[in-house]
Amino acid sequence: MESFECPNCMVGRCRLEHQTFVTRYGKGIFCAPNTEVYVCDMCGYHELPHRVLTLFDKLLKPPDTNYTQSPSSSAILSEKTNLKKLSRM
Ligand SMILES: [Zn+2]
Repeated sequence: MESFECPNCMVGRCRLEHQTFVTRYGKGIFCAPNTEVYVCDMCGYHELPHRVLTLFDKLLKPPDTNYTQSPSSSAILSEKTNLKKLSRM
């Protein structure tokens, strides 16, 4: 079984468990059922495995906003200009 010394209390051992992980992000709550979490059997400290963290990172943070905003806003602008041209005709 995967386990390591607890970095919080240095006494217990963190073991891999499956839990419903709930965290707040922004104005909402993110809930992930049956998530792999390392839980300390002494102090209750819990830590997410790196692979779960990276997965949540992708889920919680939509692809870079700077990257997605510029093409879509320019598309809207061109649509508006097309409408103006049409209404004048
Ligand atoms: Zn601990």
